Amino acid sequence: MICLYVHIPFCRERCPYCDFFLVTKAGFVERFFEALAVETASKTSLFAGRSIKAIHFGGGTPSLVSPSFIGAWLLQISGLAQISSETEITLEANPEDLSPASLDALKAVGVNRLSIGVQSIADRKLRALGRAHSAADARRVVSEALERFRSVSVDLMCGAEGETLAEWEGDLGSSLGLRPQHVSVYMLTLEEKTRLWRDVRKGLRRLPGEEAQAAMYRMATELLCGAGYRHYEISNFALEGHHSRYNLASWMREPYLGFGPAAHSFLLSGETEMRFSNASSLTKYLADPAGAVDFRETLTGEQRFDEEVFLSLRIRKPLSVGFLRKGHKLGHRHLDSVLVTLQEKGWIGVESGEVTLTEAGFLFADLVAAELLSE
Ligand code: SF4
Repeated sequence: MICLYVHIPFCRERCPYCDFFLVTKAGFVERFFEALAVETASKTSLFAGRSIKAIHFGGGTPSLVSPSFIGAWLLQISGLAQISSETEITLEANPEDLSPASLDALKAVGVNRLSIGVQSIADRKLRALGRAHSAADARRVVSEALERFRSVSVDLMCGAEGETLAEWEGDLGSSLGLRPQHVSVYMLTLEEKTRLWRDVRKGLRRLPGEEAQAAMYRMATELLCGAGYRHYEISNFALEGHHSRYNLASWMREPYLGFGPAAHSFLLSGETEMRFSNASSLTKYLADPAGAVDFRETLTGEQRFDEEVFLSLRIRKPLSVGFLRKGHKLGHRHLDSVLVTLQEKGWIGVESGEVTLTEAGFLFADLVAAELLSE
């Protein structure tokens, strides 16, 4: 089994907080899909004949391109590998791009899961985030998607300028009222060189502090878990059976193959594990879709250990103490004292020789990982 990822790098305009790789040149869409077909053909030996667990169209804004491009690429893949009714096919979408007709068209070409960048169902907050859609757009689109797709995910963001805990509670309540099968909750983070980052540095805008953001995160966990969602990853909540198969596979370190500029891949060959990334440049990608690579590396034993610890914590997968002892760089005694300290803080539990992050530990997963890795 393998998962496939396609990075569709087009957006109408860059949101003030976003540092993803993207371009705002919609005129290049057709050439991009021609290049994608070339890249796909060049990588056939890496997935031909294999069963495809999940396909994820991310970006950028995949809903900006015509569903016919998505359908043509899916047709190319289905001629080379096994896509079944069990294959999760997710497309990331923005509310302003979706209508009943476009939703029908996406479904007709094979998309069966929609991940909608709602961010908020409050007009004031959407304006503060610099988003193009309204709360009414978000409500309408989520309802229309739920009528058509077996699984709909909603992205929500907390920590916008001027946001209070009460506003966030209202946002969560409105979203839960729509009953999507999956909710992702992200805290607004200041990424360097973004417009928001510059405005905050100049004192033109102020965001809620860390404590306020942590309170919002805790509120999201409480309300979503109380409404029957399982908190299966730091930022992700799902009703039973509706977790993202693509994301979970990447956190479980299962193989995935990325297409498009800036797309990452993780492949296994016997005992060897390899990661590589396509060039983060549309110009380079269009010039050489099969060969424009930013980096390619075979993972060392230390990198594999670090990844296993870091990713397992994200999904609260238990880690055996024996495994941690083999990789911890400062010796058994140091690890044992780290485990005691982390338990006292309530961030991990240790039972039957296995270490698991606690619900309270989710907020501190990076710190826990750093301690376990002795960094
Ligand atoms: S729509 Fe998404 S990918 Fe595009 S700029 Fe906004 S946040 Fe970034």
